[in-house]
Amino acid sequence: GESIRIGIAGYGNLGRGVEAAVAKNRDMQLVGVFTRRNPAELATLHAETSVNTMDDLAAHEDRIDVLILCGGSKEDLPQQGPVMAARFNTVDSFDTHARIPEYFETVDAPARAARKTALISAGWDPGMFSINRVYGEALLPDGDTYTFWGRGLSQGHSDAIRRVPGVAAGVQYTLPSEAAIEQVRNGSRPQLETRQKHTRECFVVLADGADPASVREAIVTMPHYFDQYDTEVHFITADELARDHSAMPHGGMTIRSGNTSDDHAQVIEYGLTLESNPEFTASVLVAYARAVHRLNQQGQFGAVTVFDVPPGLLSPKSAAQLRAELL
Ligand code: NAP
Repeated sequence: GESIRIGIAGYGNLGRGVEAAVAKNRDMQLVGVFTRRNPAELATLHAETSVNTMDDLAAHEDRIDVLILCGGSKEDLPQQGPVMAARFNTVDSFDTHARIPEYFETVDAPARAARKTALISAGWDPGMFSINRVYGEALLPDGDTYTFWGRGLSQGHSDAIRRVPGVAAGVQYTLPSEAAIEQVRNGSRPQLETRQKHTRECFVVLADGADPASVREAIVTMPHYFDQYDTEVHFITADELARDHSAMPHGGMTIRSGNTSDDHAQVIEYGLTLESNPEFTASVLVAYARAVHRLNQQGQFGAVTVFDVPPGLLSPKSAAQLRAELL
């Protein structure tokens, strides 16, 4: 068939990841990157990638099959999602879980009116983890669902420690508790407190003259972010931070532990070990862009989530090929 034409709206970590992911999918082509910044100032991964302003999108409405929205969930997507869904088929990674229902509504109406398809909140959590939570609950109704994150870099917690007086720079990793995972895997369906499930580890570069003891105290007692966890704080140099902590690893697992009878426990596990959170998230968005293109051709308009997409639509293979090769 003809290749699917992809646009990238917003060029940060995720935007770069989409640029890399499109190059791995032979049925797709990249139309270009669209940014609010001066295109001349963006350095793209691939020299041939076309960089345009957001205003240039108007001239591309018939040349883009799916626009992948790579803005941030906090400020960008609530504004861009509804506007773009009135003009393009879209995929985004909106990840403010508590706000997903209201975000869905703001995107659904304009997409429906314009006969566009807008897939919201793809990625891994929300995204692949959400799907596995649904499978777990549906297949094992008498059970408990557990989600563990990490080891991974948390952007929100890293931002929080950088705002502590005396901190020049730093990163925060979330770690799952091995003991808690073991208890869940053995089918005992434990009730776990927040502190038992995850620990936090910070690598901090002190500002000149800052007192390590008071910086440590300010971090570990920070309400909401750290006070409910056991937190380790390590002080390192700016060079060590740059050398050892520039990647964005993440991952985790969803586990459903249930009982099909009094005699038998059953455990389902889905795990991710990611060297780059944004590159993996982008790979998921690109697979969903293929599905969105097909859903739109089938006449399914409006906002949709990963729950509404049949898995076969993610694959470049035909339904017949999937039956023969993967069933
Ligand atoms: P980011 O790097 O901060 O980029 C967000 C936006 O900021 C970009 O679209 C870009 O828009 C602008 N920007 C990027 N670099 C900039 C710079 N140097 N100066 C000024 N503006 C810049 O965020 P990200 O890491 O790509 O993450 C985007 C979102 O993905 C996150 O908010 C998160 O919600 C979501 N996410 C979801 C999942 C999931 O599993 N669902 C996983 C990971 C991330 P312009 O090009 O228009 O300026």
